[in-house]
Amino acid sequence: MGITTVRDLLFHFPRTYVDFSTITPIRDLKEGEVYCVSGTLLDIKETRTFRKRVSLITALVEDKTGAIKILWFNQPYLVDSLKPKDEVYLAGKVVRDKEGIYISNPVHEKAGDGKNLTHVGRIIPVYPETIGVSSRWLRSIIKMVLAQVKEMPETLPQEMLRERNFIPIQKALWQIHFPDSMEQAQQASRRFSFEELFYILLFILAERKKIAQVKAPAIPFDGTVMKRFTGKLPFQLTDDQKKAAWYILKDMEKPRPMNRLLQGDVGSGKTVVAAMAMLSAVKAGYQAALLAPTEILAQQHHKTVAQALTPFKITIGLLTGKTDRFISPKLPNDYIEISRAKLLERVKNNEVQVLIGTHSLIQEKVRFGNLALVVVDEQHRFGVKQRARLLHRTTLIPHLLSMTATPIPRTLAMTLYGDLDLTLITQLPNGRKQIITRVVPPAGREKAYEAIAEQIAQGRQAFVICPRIERTEKSPKDVEVKTVKEEYEKLSKEIFPDLRIEMLHGKMATKEKEGVMRKFKFGKIDVLVSTSVVEVGVDIPNATVMMIEGADRFGLAQLHQFRGRVGRAEHQSYCFLFSESNSFFARKRLKALEESASGFELAERDLHIRGPGDFAGTKQWGIPDFAMQQLTNLELVEQAREAAKAILEKDITLKNYPPLREKVADFREKLHLE
Ligand code: ADP
Ligand code: MG
Repeated sequence: MGITTVRDLLFHFPRTYVDFSTITPIRDLKEGEVYCVSGTLLDIKETRTFRKRVSLITALVEDKTGAIKILWFNQPYLVDSLKPKDEVYLAGKVVRDKEGIYISNPVHEKAGDGKNLTHVGRIIPVYPETIGVSSRWLRSIIKMVLAQVKEMPETLPQEMLRERNFIPIQKALWQIHFPDSMEQAQQASRRFSFEELFYILLFILAERKKIAQVKAPAIPFDGTVMKRFTGKLPFQLTDDQKKAAWYILKDMEKPRPMNRLLQGDVGSGKTVVAAMAMLSAVKAGYQAALLAPTEILAQQHHKTVAQALTPFKITIGLLTGKTDRFISPKLPNDYIEISRAKLLERVKNNEVQVLIGTHSLIQEKVRFGNLALVVVDEQHRFGVKQRARLLHRTTLIPHLLSMTATPIPRTLAMTLYGDLDLTLITQLPNGRKQIITRVVPPAGREKAYEAIAEQIAQGRQAFVICPRIERTEKSPKDVEVKTVKEEYEKLSKEIFPDLRIEMLHGKMATKEKEGVMRKFKFGKIDVLVSTSVVEVGVDIPNATVMMIEGADRFGLAQLHQFRGRVGRAEHQSYCFLFSESNSFFARKRLKALEESASGFELAERDLHIRGPGDFAGTKQWGIPDFAMQQLTNLELVEQAREAAKAILEKDITLKNYPPLREKVADFREKLHLE
């Protein structure tokens, strides 16, 4: 469970509590409710059921008001620990059989010295458990350890405890594990929640101050060039795009490294904003890099950025795991394949001004002569550490623009970036129609196919997404799961024998994948059956149907991404979700998708359906789970930010706060932020 030290154990906090503090007189017990009783065991014996398989322990417990039968199933060892005349506390459900009411499988605890109860007769903690590590066991051991910790050093400054009315750490630890009242448990939890957030914010704000002292190339804002650029676009920028570009370009004017997150729903047109930033850097004599999460996307960016920047005579290189090429201003509509060594040479000599690539861009020994801007598309797909490495490669630190369509819940974004460094594009370009999303029951499959046929008859195209490429030996039981290969067979032979259908998946060679994407883009394929490789960014404006098989197997953010592959032009588009799952959460998630078109709203909903757990790859940030849970509490985040700011203003190096300093150093090891 990740518990390796005594401290870890003490900070393994309860998931919830059960209130067994009220002792009910036996006379008052009623069928169907859970009660806690206290009394004397009169009789206890083991019998076996007639098949002699299940151990059955029966007992009688008596208090001043009456007696009731107790039944324990399958716990034969209890006859060794519980004896007649023992004073016990019991908590369990009262049920009825033909002989009358009894308490079924109660939790038990011997009264011992009468006061110090752990499992019954008080509010008891329920912990995150794992096989062999039960809450009961954790309670015993945590209590034992707590009793030995006589003086837990206080971690928060005294003045903060006073000002904010927090329980001191020693008492708070007792109260979070073994609270005297629910109110006390809450108080303790508030303290620890605040504390976690406070450390994170302290660290982030301190890092931000540090980075503000680092130099970045100041890139002058050239209004004329920008006007020329926008004038050549086949569309008008939306207000949000203009605003985003403005903030970014203004940021880049400063000799301090920008660290900005551009969040915009799929199809909101982030690429063109990034192109403006890159153009600005290049026009000032610098280089820009763009990192894409997949090869397909890197290629797509390479083409679109090249198109947009052609009039400005810029050389744009493409570096992926498999192919290297560049587009030179002399040959704007074609690319030139060159060796990696030559490409890297040109990058080093500033002859390639924009370099677009995948992971390999950070993995290879890429050296930029004069890098001033790094754009990262779909940042959560990248190791944040790798990004940092790229950033620290030159003496000046380049500006960083991260773009994502995966909306991070607002509280989290605020924590990680702060208001100033977050730009949202909430508008979609004019003329876009809302995508019609439907969760389709099995009976509706025919209709969905008809809808596809109809769209294709109108000249549109469709995606069919499957969770797997093919059936593997390992998963014969997975009969339900749809695979690309099988669906491809079915669709091309049975359902749409007249249509042009092809497949796309990760096991295909790069050239092959590229070929298929190109054909799809140029309308030479009607239906593309694919795995999640089309998830991010792929831009096919003519596609209007996104059909997702086994939709419950994908996360909400991912489904939203898929959906964003359609509805990218003026045509009415559709998203059909198929699912064989009856799970409550799965259905709730799909329903949320049906009801909401906004990625931001979906992010918030997902946060509440699933908890922040692994949302948007936030695991990667390295934020402790407990703190992640607190991030849904905007008010607490604000308080923690305020407190962190106040401390840093007084004492930027935290020299007067050794425990805080230690914590921040700790986070520097663990959290992977720039
Ligand atoms: P995303 O934000 O998902 O990366 P893209 O940048 O790929 O979106 O843009 C989606 C599509 O919208 C592209 O085809 C792009 O050319 C187009 N587009 C971008 N901005 C506008 C706009 N202001 N008006 C019309 N179309 C636009
Ligand atoms: Mg994009």
